[in-house]
Amino acid sequence: YAEKLKRHSDCAWRIDPFGPMQVPVVVFADKSLIDAMDEQVYAQAAHVAALPGVVQASYAMPDAHWGYGFPIGGVAGFDAEQGGVISAGGVGFDIACGVRALTTGLTYDDVERCKGPLATMLAHRIPAGVGSRGKIELSPGEMDDMLRGGAHWAVSRGYGTQEDIARIEENGRMAGAEPRFVSDHAKQRQKDQVGTLGSGNHYLEVQRISAIYDATIAEVFGLRLNDIVVLIHCGSRGLGHQVATDFLPRMVKAAKSEGIELPEKELACAPIKSDLGRQYYGAMNAGINCAVANRQVLTHLVRRVFSDLLPGADVRLLYDVSHNTCKIEEHLVDGKPRTLYIHRKGATRAFGPGHPALPPDLQQTGQPVLIGGTMGTSSYVLAGTRTGMELSFGSCCHGAGRAMSRKQATQRWHGKDVVMHLAQKGIVIKGASLRGVAEEAPGAYKDVTAVVDASEKAGLARKIARLEPLICVKG
Ligand code: 5GP
Ligand code: MN
Ligand code: MN
Repeated sequence: YAEKLKRHSDCAWRIDPFGPMQVPVVVFADKSLIDAMDEQVYAQAAHVAALPGVVQASYAMPDAHWGYGFPIGGVAGFDAEQGGVISAGGVGFDIACGVRALTTGLTYDDVERCKGPLATMLAHRIPAGVGSRGKIELSPGEMDDMLRGGAHWAVSRGYGTQEDIARIEENGRMAGAEPRFVSDHAKQRQKDQVGTLGSGNHYLEVQRISAIYDATIAEVFGLRLNDIVVLIHCGSRGLGHQVATDFLPRMVKAAKSEGIELPEKELACAPIKSDLGRQYYGAMNAGINCAVANRQVLTHLVRRVFSDLLPGADVRLLYDVSHNTCKIEEHLVDGKPRTLYIHRKGATRAFGPGHPALPPDLQQTGQPVLIGGTMGTSSYVLAGTRTGMELSFGSCCHGAGRAMSRKQATQRWHGKDVVMHLAQKGIVIKGASLRGVAEEAPGAYKDVTAVVDASEKAGLARKIARLEPLICVKG
């Protein structure tokens, strides 16, 4: 596939449809990101372009790399009326994994003075690591309430405010969640995992704002140079993972019986208008609510830490956006509005100014787009654009993207050395596992600045602010 890639513009590349492909592949990246791109991304995106009911193009973001079925950094929309499919592999195992950014009203000086104690208290109070358990134990009835209510459930339990709700994608509650399609096993796994960070590359990071690119929008977002923000990256924990595990084999079977040709088994999908498709959609939405409730409870824990240690803090939610979802959205295709099932897998929704899904105070700015880099490099806040709505169904990159596998990273680095090296740069790492820290070593990722610049040059989003890590609590 790589040899069929043609440059379309400065930061957009195309593979024209051939063989079973129904639409082109479009890759957003500059030349050097393309030169280093994992070639499996092209094949995987081309396979997606061959699925029934796919519309417009199969997209890959600049942070793209190999994923299960769809590439990570993949975006595709499907039309239910044209036999379109929904794919568990197109959402990913960590349903609604996402990022939320909190402003604190504190400056770098406020926090630098007590960085050590703050790191210790965060690590102590934020449950992290494989199988980490929280303080909340849900009865079966409460579980279903949580799966239907998302952040509303959390706020009704005292974890946060109504103001938070307005700053969460979908106002903190995904309609169409159907807890009855979530297996008992999945619910069992989640019983005591609400309000936990999980493992791997999930993190809670205290950061300093090191650059402002658009002063007007930054002010609306509440971002000022040298202020402190907190980024939380985590998802739907055991429940989301189990939903994916439950539905993938069922979708492999369904695809076969529906006569859908799967170039690889991992692309498992079902027609949107089938029982299985509807069941997955209901279960996945429950997974989205689970992830959002999780990040809401974590926010509460962060607020408690800050009010105990830095009583001057005013912790507000800037925005919460998921990057592993399938959502029903309206988009213009060839100038005509169409209702599509947009899969974003390792891709962030990035709606432009004026979109009805944005709260009134963000109508002019466009949606905040939250991009984690690594625990040793920058992260970014971007804003969605009108051009992005046409170019990529209003989607952008979700991170730096891996440049090597976890295994390669652990062969290259030792967790201890990574922690020491970052300490020399003034970054405090609190990791649940040293192996995890090695897997997530900054060198294992692409250059986030190159990825973000390519996204901006392609027109997917605009840079608003750059963030630098001070404390990272790793899962
Ligand atoms: P994913 O959602 O694909 O698991 O990861 C999203 C992105 O998070 C990665 O592509 C990477 O750029 C970023 N990331 C991973 N670990 C960290 C971290 O410790 N801190 C920050 N700021 N970003 C990270
Ligand atoms: Mn994620
Ligand atoms: Mn995740």
